[in-house]
Amino acid sequence: MPVRRAGRKRRDRYAIIAGMLRLLLISLSLLALCACAPLDAGGRAPTPSAIVPVTGADVAAASTPTLTATPTRPATATPPPTATPEPSATASPEPSPTVTASATATLWPPPTPDAAAAGRQARLPILMYHYVEPWPANANELRRGLTVRPEDFTAQMDYLAQRGYVTVSLYDLADALATGRPLPERAVVLTFDDGYRTLVDYAWPILSAHGYTGTVFAITELMDKGLEQYLTWDQARALFAAGWRIEPHTKTHVELAGRSDAKQLYEILGAVETIAANLGVRPRFLCYPAGKYDATSLRLAPEIQLWGAVTTRPGRTHTFADRFTWTRVRVDGRGSLKDFITAVEGDLR
Ligand SMILES: [Zn+2]
Repeated sequence: MPVRRAGRKRRDRYAIIAGMLRLLLISLSLLALCACAPLDAGGRAPTPSAIVPVTGADVAAASTPTLTATPTRPATATPPPTATPEPSATASPEPSPTVTASATATLWPPPTPDAAAAGRQARLPILMYHYVEPWPANANELRRGLTVRPEDFTAQMDYLAQRGYVTVSLYDLADALATGRPLPERAVVLTFDDGYRTLVDYAWPILSAHGYTGTVFAITELMDKGLEQYLTWDQARALFAAGWRIEPHTKTHVELAGRSDAKQLYEILGAVETIAANLGVRPRFLCYPAGKYDATSLRLAPEIQLWGAVTTRPGRTHTFADRFTWTRVRVDGRGSLKDFITAVEGDLR
């Protein structure tokens, strides 16, 4: 091949590469613009020293600090939404001091264990719900199991109210275990996994009628995508303002067990930061998708400054030491009221 032809070819190649680089730069700046927009749209303008009203969830918290929001919006480390499921360089894939440096408001001071914390336990059912809505036509057994019908849910909440139960939050539980602050004699935590949109139609009004509140474990990326099955961020903010808690159930609901450090950090911290950015308050309790976790999850959760996590293993007795593997009581949509009563008050430890 003549030298000149080869030289021209090389120059052409350089031109093509330079063109591609320019395109890449333009796409990157566009991506950066897109990534910032939802934060600005979603983040509420913070009210200096706003006091969130204390609600049913906090009945036991009279002597604890009120819920305050700091006047500054957090500089959060939310990974920008990218097309790739793997963590990008901006997602802080490695645990580092910046992971815990968020200035986001916090609902409670961290539960600092006193000398007696190690031996303390609390018997408290953390009920696990998914859907509260009528059974869809042709719902299979799995879907029926996951779906408590509104009339059944009403009967369950009526039962709890008649028996004098009050709802508390996982914050109450962590605080009670760490410091010995007493929980109400009949206390229950109501958790709703996945954050389905029909919660606002069915569960919310039924709970409100009793002054009850719940905890939603939100899959943040599915909310970010605006999928109609899931709560919108406006709905999540409304629930939160009514005393509910919105806590992370990862970004995409992948099972964490067996995943790399980076992937797990991306899924957990990404969800934490997204909730913090949308609510102005940093969430503290994780729900492992499908109840699956491993040693990496257990190490990362406290590094991310989470205070506890729930599994799908059955149980009602909780300790401070096992706060990253708290058990729950599954409420099966096919069960009777009697089954529900047994689940709440029966022989289960
Ligand atoms: Zn789930």
